[in-house]
Amino acid sequence: MPIAIHRPVTLMRKLYLTLLALAIIASALFTSANAQNRQVMVEAQRVTGDVFTVAAVTPKGANIYAVRQPSAAMMNAIDKGLTDLFAVARKNGYSRRLNYADYTVFIANADRQKDASGKYSPDIAVGAAQYAGTEYDKGGYIYAAGMVIANNPMSFVIAEHKSDLSRVSDLVRFEGEHLVLYHNDPRRYEATMDHSRGGGHPILQ
Ligand SMILES: [Zn+2]
Repeated sequence: MPIAIHRPVTLMRKLYLTLLALAIIASALFTSANAQNRQVMVEAQRVTGDVFTVAAVTPKGANIYAVRQPSAAMMNAIDKGLTDLFAVARKNGYSRRLNYADYTVFIANADRQKDASGKYSPDIAVGAAQYAGTEYDKGGYIYAAGMVIANNPMSFVIAEHKSDLSRVSDLVRFEGEHLVLYHNDPRRYEATMDHSRGGGHPILQ
């Protein structure tokens, strides 16, 4: 009976076409994810003036791009900051994007080691933009402890620390607050994204 012969062939062909379609979709998604990641890398390099030659993953799975191999202490401090962030996010009823692997942290060269009072404070000099003329403005640029690079994929930059690693955990938690709010509470995100209008961290209690 022809039908007995044809049916398996038709099924095989359907399966083949389905797999082909899935492969094409997967490849398109992969390509657009890659393009997004490239854009984020370009933006991080533009903001910091650094080149991030080292790619790494923290013990808990966060993505790291750094100017040189990060210390284990630096990696663990980043994980702790994300752990703290996820805990306070859940406490506020947020559940989206609370996975270590969702986050990319750029570790840049510090543009200063100490703040005006002489305290150890590795920070990044960035263009003043909306902070121009405010108390933060140091003449066209401001010193930032951390800065969000992109909301999607979620990424931010901090400076390399040699000590005071608890400051790193705090910065990760604080920059992460903007990203958690962006994906979980758009109204609160809008109200808190720009510190030049007042308000700082922590936002989530
Ligand atoms: Zn902030």
